[in-house]
Amino acid sequence: MIARYWWGKSGRKGIHWLGWRKLCKPKCLGGLGFKNFEAFNKAMVAKQAWRILEKPTSLVVKILKARYFPHDDFMQASLGSSSSMIWKSILWGREVIEDGLIWRVGNGASIRVFQDRWIPKPFTFKPLTDRGLDWNTTISDLLTASGSWNLPLLEQHFSLEDRDIIFGIALGLVSQLGDSKFWFFSKNRKYSVNTRYRVAVRQCDEDFGVGGSNQSAQEGFWMRIWKLAVPNKIKMLIWRACTDILPTTVNLSKRRVLTSHVCSRCGKYPEDAYHALWSSKMSQIFWKCTYFI
Ligand SMILES: [Zn+2]
Repeated sequence: MIARYWWGKSGRKGIHWLGWRKLCKPKCLGGLGFKNFEAFNKAMVAKQAWRILEKPTSLVVKILKARYFPHDDFMQASLGSSSSMIWKSILWGREVIEDGLIWRVGNGASIRVFQDRWIPKPFTFKPLTDRGLDWNTTISDLLTASGSWNLPLLEQHFSLEDRDIIFGIALGLVSQLGDSKFWFFSKNRKYSVNTRYRVAVRQCDEDFGVGGSNQSAQEGFWMRIWKLAVPNKIKMLIWRACTDILPTTVNLSKRRVLTSHVCSRCGKYPEDAYHALWSSKMSQIFWKCTYFI
């Protein structure tokens, strides 16, 4: 409905120049930051799953436990047969919790190095390398008797990239305690709907996480447009030009609205965004009249 409203023209249907998913990307990633309702809904349902983890002694959790996971931990609980709608939804939301739940290293005894998620780096949260260590090694095997990292052992078995991250994991204060789990994406280590939603819309972006520097260059590019001191409709025009969704003859003929992609002003060249806004004769005359050239 929102997409239809956005692209429509005074009640009539308009061309949807960009898919809903792309419109939902944050502005810094080239979208318009529309709410992705599915991701937001899931993030809210996940809050209920988080409460089950956080408050195991509450009445509702006791009831759910008795009914659905009497012998398991909540994170291992399965759907089972004849589950209620509520239980099905909670397990659907639990997927979200799983995405960001990682171990906080205490004494390391319950964390398996290669099978559990404990490296604070999305989205695998596991070491990149496996150099000859036993598959069932636990973190406690990587610690010295005094509870600090066993540096020679780490150097022998982990890549430099892994080691850098592992050294950054604070041990001192918690090494006497058992291991616990926390939500990685929030500063206070507790699940929150908003932080989860932000992660989710970024995950929707196919390019996300591919290259760090590329990503920040892209973010810088889009934010420069949105921060320009010009009226909003000009920003929208620039955004559409950069997303290549202007109604140029090239784009209109791709969508079979026009049969020819030749520019209607010069009758010579294909009219793409560059031609329409910059290189065509008319555009050049226009720009010469302005302060910019
Ligand atoms: Zn032309």
